[in-house]
Amino acid sequence: MARLYDSRKRILVTGGAGFIGSHLIDRLLAGGHEVICLDNLFTGTKRNIDHLHDNPRFEFMRHDVTFPLYVEVDEIYNLACPASPVHYQYDPVQTTKTSVHGAINMLGLAKRLRCKILQASTSEVYGDPTVHPQAERYWGNVNPIGPRSCYDEGKRCAETLFFDYHRQHGLEIKVARIFNTYGPRMHHADGRVVSNFIMQALTGRDITIYGDGQQTRSFCYVDDLVEGLLRLMAKDKDVTGPVNLGNPSEITIAQLAMHIVEATGASSKIIHAKLPRDDPSQRCPDIALAKTALDWEPLVTLDAGLKKTVTHFRNVLKSLK
Ligand code: NAD
Ligand code: UDP
Ligand code: UDP
Repeated sequence: MARLYDSRKRILVTGGAGFIGSHLIDRLLAGGHEVICLDNLFTGTKRNIDHLHDNPRFEFMRHDVTFPLYVEVDEIYNLACPASPVHYQYDPVQTTKTSVHGAINMLGLAKRLRCKILQASTSEVYGDPTVHPQAERYWGNVNPIGPRSCYDEGKRCAETLFFDYHRQHGLEIKVARIFNTYGPRMHHADGRVVSNFIMQALTGRDITIYGDGQQTRSFCYVDDLVEGLLRLMAKDKDVTGPVNLGNPSEITIAQLAMHIVEATGASSKIIHAKLPRDDPSQRCPDIALAKTALDWEPLVTLDAGLKKTVTHFRNVLKSLK
């Protein structure tokens, strides 16, 4: 445990310079806590945490979670891992190492400190689901040897490790299965659908729908997601998860393109490109468990969230000029 002399906690956030991690850190600092932001800056950027450097309760540490880490903290949020298919398939071996060796190191750290640890897992553990919407009891339909497997199976193995440390060592764990999340500070070039479509729309390029656009996703605004993570961490030890965190309003990718054309006022043409291999055809969270266990559900509508995200990307474009 960290030696602090009040109710403040010292909290480690791995992947803290990334999209979700940086928003989580903002909330933790606003709550009066001390935060160690650990990141190897593979997909995260210093720009996401630039506004925090003058805060005496904030500390940045450049480190790779695949290597052991010795710090003294009260809680750990393990978010380190590239999340966009383009990024996690760039060096798939490193992606699996990040999920698996990273989980082992962070669990070993939590075990030594006897502290709570939360894992940012993913809806990808359900693969290309044959059950719809996906509830936590569904075991998934995952290809173990495809291009997405480094991420999907890495995250599945991390969940296994979390539950084995829980059963074998009595560790207090929390596992959140995060569904597609979007918002300001997504990397503008990370290839994910929301950032791609908005950047294409704002720069007058064609909007690239992969396949026929009838595949579905459910998009959660980042503030809602972070609220869910905080609520999960705050629960006592019998709430381990896995718990789905996502927005249950499901839309097709073709419909998303129309929302983004509207939000940007773009005149871009919509074109179709090849659907990537193993691209899940549908995805929608069943959030009944999050509602009862965490009293949580998303509050931000897609159009309200897209508006804020478009403003962010307009500013990014200005800074790139
Ligand atoms: P992101 O790429 O913006 O953030 C990931 C962060 O982890 C980056 O800052 C990156 O530099 C860092 N990182 C990667 N490998 C690392 C390593 N070996 N050591 C230390 N740092 C490392 O992505 P995000 O969207 O913020 O995702 C955060 C977490 O949430 C990830 O674990 C991701 O799998 C999970 N998640 C995100 C979504 C989503 O839609 N955004 C959905 C499901 C799960
Ligand atoms: N570890 C770490 N920080 C710590 C304690 C452990 O990074 O404070 C790493 C260490 O590399 C170890 C791994 O976590 O290999 C798993 O630790 P555990 O105690 O579970 O197993 P060990 O391998 O030490 O028997
Ligand atoms: N997609 C698309 N055009 C793009 C980027 C993505 O049509 O420019 C599709 C992709 O094929 C998938 C969905 O949008 O069906 C979501 O993709 P993303 O990479 O954001 O996340 P995923 O949920 O697949 O991990």
